[in-house]
Amino acid sequence: MTETTQRVALVTGASRGIGKAIAHRLASDGRHVVLAARSLDALETLAAEFKSQGLSASAIAVDVGDSASFAEAIAKVVTDQGRLDVLVNNAGITRDGLLLRMSDQDWDDVIRINLTSAFVATRAAARAMMKGRFGRIVNIASTSGLVGNAGQANYAAAKSALVGFTKTVARELGSKGITANVVAPGFIQTDMTSGLPEAVTEQLKKTMAVPRLGEPEDIAAAVSYVTSDEAGFLTGQTIAVDGGLTMC
Ligand code: NAP
Repeated sequence: MTETTQRVALVTGASRGIGKAIAHRLASDGRHVVLAARSLDALETLAAEFKSQGLSASAIAVDVGDSASFAEAIAKVVTDQGRLDVLVNNAGITRDGLLLRMSDQDWDDVIRINLTSAFVATRAAARAMMKGRFGRIVNIASTSGLVGNAGQANYAAAKSALVGFTKTVARELGSKGITANVVAPGFIQTDMTSGLPEAVTEQLKKTMAVPRLGEPEDIAAAVSYVTSDEAGFLTGQTIAVDGGLTMC
């Protein structure tokens, strides 16, 4: 076990998109960042890139949908790093389809990867955070979970459930110096949204106060603040970073 005073952050789904931007931002904030996803090659390349920029990072292969091995991987991070201060549950998938045609498999996969994984990771990380009397947990949800989205019954259910889960974690762990919050992105330019037809994005922009798709860095900036040492009084909240898409 390494003894270090540097705070350690674990970011799931860090190989690309929003997770990659969050990982880079937290490393730039001075954290040692553990990059987690299934594709170890991509993560190792990224960790090397971070290190070449003077940042601190390491990589682990995890499938967040395999609860037992995911929990073991988190325990190993705690053992190897000697601490775990920040957990960002970002890995997520979509399996879209209208309700009447949605398969049980598509429902189960989306719930397991987007929701159950956050429970498994939070439970595994909480003990180390309690020991350190400090923790910052961020669950990446979606505006689909706040207002619904046709074709995403599974995804909206998972992301909405993250809100209730996070509030409960905030209540249970707040007295231990641990905060838990949700960051809910709107439409962000990543692989996940690359298939959206231009007509759809143009229509979306008309409903937004800031008429553009978001960048992964827009989400990373919010996560940076929520996970900072100074954000200890901010907990149980859902911050929609969506260009005003869902404001009422
Ligand atoms: P993305 O580009 O598709 O990246 C998804 C990431 O999750 C990848 O790093 C992927 O890595 C990882 N991942 C997927 N399944 C995994 C598994 N079983 N185990 C471990 N890692 C897994 O997605 P994104 O757009 O960056 O989205 C990131 C998060 O933001 C998701 O939770 C998503 O629901 C949420 N979000 C995105 C948007 C948007 O507009 N993009 C909007 C709202 C919410 P590997 O394939 O290497 O495992």
